[in-house]
Amino acid sequence: MSDSPATGFTLDLNEDQIAVRDWLHGFAADVIRPAAAEWDEREETPWPVIQEAAKLGIYSLDFFAQQQFDPTGLGIPITMEELFWGDAGIGLAIVGSALAAVGVVANGTPEQVGTWAPQMFGTPDDVKLAAFCSSEPNAGSDVAAMRTRAVYDQATDEWVLNGTKTWATNGGIAHVHVVVASVEPALGARGQASFIVPPGTPGLSQGQKFKKHGIRASHTAEVVLDNVRVPGHCLLGGKEKLDERLARARERAAAEARGERTEKVKNAAMATFEASRPAVGAQAVGVARAAYEVALDYAMTREQFGRPIIDNQGIAFALADMRTRIDASRLLVWRASWMANNGKPFTAAEGSMSKLYAGETAKWVTGQAIQILGGNGFTREYPVERMHRDAAIYTIFEGTSEIQRLVIARTLSGLPIR
Ligand SMILES: Cc1cc2nc3c(=O)[nH]c(=O)nc-3n(C[C@H](O)[C@H](O)[C@H](O)COP(=O)(O)OP(=O)(O)OC[C@H]3O[C@@H](n4cnc5c(N)ncnc54)[C@H](O)[C@@H]3O)c2cc1C
Repeated sequence: MSDSPATGFTLDLNEDQIAVRDWLHGFAADVIRPAAAEWDEREETPWPVIQEAAKLGIYSLDFFAQQQFDPTGLGIPITMEELFWGDAGIGLAIVGSALAAVGVVANGTPEQVGTWAPQMFGTPDDVKLAAFCSSEPNAGSDVAAMRTRAVYDQATDEWVLNGTKTWATNGGIAHVHVVVASVEPALGARGQASFIVPPGTPGLSQGQKFKKHGIRASHTAEVVLDNVRVPGHCLLGGKEKLDERLARARERAAAEARGERTEKVKNAAMATFEASRPAVGAQAVGVARAAYEVALDYAMTREQFGRPIIDNQGIAFALADMRTRIDASRLLVWRASWMANNGKPFTAAEGSMSKLYAGETAKWVTGQAIQILGGNGFTREYPVERMHRDAAIYTIFEGTSEIQRLVIARTLSGLPIR
C-alpha cells in the first residue's frame, strides 16, 4: 500500500518506524526470547536483561519519550509489540517504569515530569525502576473505594500518606513510586490525587511479593505506606490545581445530590489508565503474534497421517482465525494510539476497545497455539505454554475485560450502566 495523495491515508510505516521495529525485534529475538524460560522459572526481575537494554538505549526515558511523541502514535505500539513478542514477563520488566512515568506525565506539571521521569530510569550504569501504585486489596476495579489517605500538613508543607497498595508492578523495588491516594474520601474517585514518593522516603516498604501464574519475570508486590511524608511539591499537578479540582467536584456532588445531571470528570488513576490502554493492548498483540508464529511453524512441519497437520482444514482454519484476530487487534490499537496522539477524544472508548479486543485475542490465540502443538504445547519444552500463562494477564490488569466493556457501554450510551 502506498501513500494516497487524495487522502494522505497510509498504513505503511515510515523509515524511522521500520528501523526502530527491526532494531527492537533483533533485541527481542537475540536477548529477550532466549532468556525468557529462565526468568519465568526464577520469578525474579531480570536485571541483566534490563541493564543490557539500558546500554543499548532501549531502557531509557529518551527512547520511550521519542516513541511517545511519534506524531502518528505508532511509536509506542510498535515498541510494545516487538518487546512482548520476545517475552511478556521480561517485556514488562523493561517497560514497567515507562508505564509509571505515564502516571507522572498524565497528572504532573512540566517541572515535575522533568524532575522525576529521568529518576525513574536511572542511567545505563545505574539502572533504576519505577512503580505506579493505584490498586488496593479492596479497590481493584472499584477505584473509588480506595482507602489510602493523603493528608496535608500545612505546618511543614508535607503530605502524609497512609495505606496499603497491592499488585504494584516493581512495587517496593522501585526507586520512585507514584501513589494514588484519597485526599477527600467523600468525593470518591474525584477526591483522589497522585503523589511522588521519592527514593528512600521513610515509611514506604514492600509487603508480600506475589507468586504468579504468568509474566513471572515481572515483580508484583504490595506496597505499605506508614506515615510516609512527602514534600508539597510531590503532589502531581500542584496544590492550586488540586484545590480547584476539589472545589468543582464538591459543586458537582452538591448538584448531583439535587438530582441534576453533571459532566463526567477524570480522576488521577483514570487519566493514567486511559493513556496506557492502547499500549497494553499492543503488548497483548506481541504475545499473540509470538504464539501464532510458533503454531504456524509447528503446523507446517509436524506430520500425522502422513501429511503436515496444517493440511487439515481444522488446523489451517484455526491459524487463519488466529492471524485475523491478531491483525484486527493491531488495527484497533493503532487507531486508538493515532487518535490519542492527534488530539482526538475517545468518543467511543476506542482505547478500551483496543485493550479489550487485544487482551481477549491474546488469551484465545495462545490457547489455540497449545492445541495445535498438542502434547508439546502443554509442556515447558515449547514456549506457547508460557505465552498462554502470560496472556491471561491481559484480560485482568489495566482494567479487566468486564471493566473495559463497562467503559465502552457507558461511553456509547451515556448511561451509568452497572
Ligand atoms: C500481575 C499484575 C500486575 C499489576 N500491576 C499493577 C500496577 O502496577 N499498579 C496498579 O495499581 N495495579 C496493578 N494491578 C492491578 C490490576 O489493575 C487489578 O488486578 C485489576 O484492576 C482488577 O482488580 P482486582 O484484581 O481487585 O479484581 P476485582 O475488581 O475484584 O474483580 C474481580 C472480578 O469481578 C469483575 N468485576 C468487578 N466489578 C465488575 C462490574 N462492575 N461489572 C462486571 N464485572 C465486574 C472483574 O472484571 C473480575 O472479573 C496488577 C495486577 C496484576 C495481576
